Amino acid sequence: MLDIKIVKTDKPKAKPQGPLGFGKIFTDHMFVMNYTEGKGWHDPRVVPFADFTLSPAAMVFHYGQEMFEGLKAYRGADGKSYLFRPDMNAKRANRSNERLCIPLIPEEDFVQAVKTVVKVDEDWIPTEAGTSLYIRPFIIATDPFLGVKPSETYLFVIILSPSGAYYESGLAPVGIWIEDDFVRAVRGGVGFTKTGGNYAASLAAQVKAHDSGYSQVLWLDGVERKYIEEVGAMNIFFKIDGKIVTPMLNGSILPGITRDSVLHLCRHWGLPTEERKISVDELIAAQKSGALEEVFGTGTAAVISPVGKLRFKDEVMQIGDGNIGPVSQRLYDTVTGIQTGVLPDEFGWRTTVE
Ligand SMILES: *Cc1c(COP(=O)(O)O)cnc(C)c1O
Repeated sequence: MLDIKIVKTDKPKAKPQGPLGFGKIFTDHMFVMNYTEGKGWHDPRVVPFADFTLSPAAMVFHYGQEMFEGLKAYRGADGKSYLFRPDMNAKRANRSNERLCIPLIPEEDFVQAVKTVVKVDEDWIPTEAGTSLYIRPFIIATDPFLGVKPSETYLFVIILSPSGAYYESGLAPVGIWIEDDFVRAVRGGVGFTKTGGNYAASLAAQVKAHDSGYSQVLWLDGVERKYIEEVGAMNIFFKIDGKIVTPMLNGSILPGITRDSVLHLCRHWGLPTEERKISVDELIAAQKSGALEEVFGTGTAAVISPVGKLRFKDEVMQIGDGNIGPVSQRLYDTVTGIQTGVLPDEFGWRTTVE
């Protein structure tokens, strides 16, 4: 158990009015904890949300030693505040930490820190359908040093952002660009971690996709550029001939918690599921033969994001009839229902913030 000191702001901000958007508004408080080599993690605290002062030499600015997580708090119809599988974020955070030579945080401390800061800013959790409080835990290397080595000091911070629906177009299917030149990650690299460098490396392809009228990039494997990996911040699923197919975790794909939940639900419903390699050629052939029934992305921000169009080189594949598919809709309703307390929590995924 952390002994978390709480210092409340004496200048609470006005709550936002109107559309929230995503990731632009921040609450009154944040969680901060320091790490110092020899001392470990220390001084856990909730303090007013404020700018940091860091040395311009802080290692995170130069070599990107940092990691982050993403999860949400939901307001239930019963007025309670819920988290969805935060223990999974704690576990994944430590897998990222291990790979990036960042000191681990005990899972129960991670979850306690999230719950504590969410409780302090509980009245910031929006109530309208589809809205939530996005939670962004992150760790940065803070040694003022220009040599390349693991830092000896870090900050673990959690900030909170009331958010509306992730996609402005809502559940309307999005167009996705299959990138055939740039790659996101390779096996042996850091593709399975949530670390800033992965996203910095993704921007050039994202700009390319946007310029061509596509909202997201679908990455192919970094070696052969032949097998489907994942979308920028989502895992990808296909319904092919009645089977729910998703790329298997291979070290370069981010192991999404929504992905895991979706696989679990599909199996629970008796739908055949496959985690395996899927080549872009197989996808094109399935679309041509009519076997490709649904495509959707999964991630905390959007939950389920139906895909209506895929482009690979000169090939444009239309998926379905322009509406969300039945399995995608059922998954969306079920996952969000469990998250917000509308549906029973059969799998022990929901936890109350108290
Ligand atoms: C966060 C993320 C996902 C989705 O993970 P969830 O735990 O479901 O939110 C997928 N791919 C990438 C690259 C991500 O950063």
